[in-house]
Amino acid sequence: MKTRAHERFLKAGECLFHEGESGTALYIIECGEMEIVTGENGHDGQERRVLNVLGPGSLLGELAVVDRRPRSATAIARNDAVVTVISPDTVRTRLAGADPVHWRVFSAMAQHFRAETRRTGDASTAPFLPPGSSAEADMDDVLDELRMAAELEHAAGRGELRLLYQPIVALPDAEVLGFEALLRWNSASRGPVPPSRFIPVAEAADCILPIGRWCADQAVQALAQLRPVAAGSLYMSINIAARQIADDQFLDAVTAGLRHQGIDVGDLHLEIVERTLLDERAAGDWLLRCRALGLSVALDDFGTGYSSLQYLSRYPIDTLKIDRSFVSDICQEPKSANICRAVIELGKVLGMQVVAEGIENPGQARLLTEMGCTQGQGWLYHRPMPLDEALTLVTPAGCSMPI
Ligand code: C2E
Ligand code: CA
Ligand code: CA
Repeated sequence: MKTRAHERFLKAGECLFHEGESGTALYIIECGEMEIVTGENGHDGQERRVLNVLGPGSLLGELAVVDRRPRSATAIARNDAVVTVISPDTVRTRLAGADPVHWRVFSAMAQHFRAETRRTGDASTAPFLPPGSSAEADMDDVLDELRMAAELEHAAGRGELRLLYQPIVALPDAEVLGFEALLRWNSASRGPVPPSRFIPVAEAADCILPIGRWCADQAVQALAQLRPVAAGSLYMSINIAARQIADDQFLDAVTAGLRHQGIDVGDLHLEIVERTLLDERAAGDWLLRCRALGLSVALDDFGTGYSSLQYLSRYPIDTLKIDRSFVSDICQEPKSANICRAVIELGKVLGMQVVAEGIENPGQARLLTEMGCTQGQGWLYHRPMPLDEALTLVTPAGCSMPI
């Protein structure tokens, strides 16, 4: 039978690889059949056992290539056969970027398979590591992430989640214009977990959808309590994870909640990060729906992600939030100062509001005000606070804090 360079021909009864060898390649069966057997050599008194018979289109020999352990079985041609030979690097390179959770699940499956087929005392049962991973600890982290996702699913129901509210103020007089709702998780088993740790886990596991709804609900109720106490109008900003734009009912549920409370839909601001716009089609539809419903959208951490001026002109975005990393060294680093100035100008040209995040000292506030920035947020004014405290802050007497 004629074969090409990347193929190998096997006569009936010929062995492709032996149990116990290292995995130097994996194979696709192009024609013929391969028998997968253990105990072929009768070592250790083990009986010959046929595990499987594979035909054209089947992949074989993959396990030893991926987990880098000895072949768990022998492959023998049942009749004349041709296989395509695939180098381990081809597969390992493709797998290198896979989600660590995929690796962990795959590793567990491989371990179980080996446990089923191995001879007594043979083969390690430790999980194997993805390429590029240096430590078993990485795999433990993956398990912990899965555990955390399971805990997060019940966190709201157990009363472990709460929102804090950080005022957004007018520059320079520090009058409170609105609040940003920021989520906190006080886990019964782990203690306080920062959002930078648990939000990505919730997002990857999809429980960000119910959590996101819970946050929106709480924030709308908080706004309903804050507004009658405040002298002027107030807005509430909530953070929307990229995954949430796929939640079809979210926007309708939120607007219904606002109407139910008698709040102008425009007084709820939805903060998204630039990464959300990577799926431009879905994000574009979502932004147009927000506009149609009257909801206001802010682009958070502006300048740190996928900054494309195209989407600013194409889609309805109301506010740009200058990222804290530019504000923090605005007084020392001319490049950061220039970026802040450019974003403020951009906002003016495009008719958008601009909010500077992370203002920690009066020098930063002064410079931003001189540049024409009219809204800011940061520890200089207020830290995130519980609703009770926010309520005392917005009483007409306590509403502004000139500096
Ligand atoms: P973010 O949306 O950029 O929120 C601003 C973060 O900066 C908050 O951190 C806030 O506490 C912190 N911050 C505010 N002013 C200052 C300051 O002057 N100095 C410094 N050093 N930090 C300041 P936090 O609360 O830890 O939240 C971190 C991130 O977690 C948020 O960044 C947001 O991306 C995410 N997050 C928080 N709550 C939610 C939520 O309800 N849903 C979603 N999807 N993400 C959330
Ligand atoms: Ca935000
Ligand atoms: Ca931000």
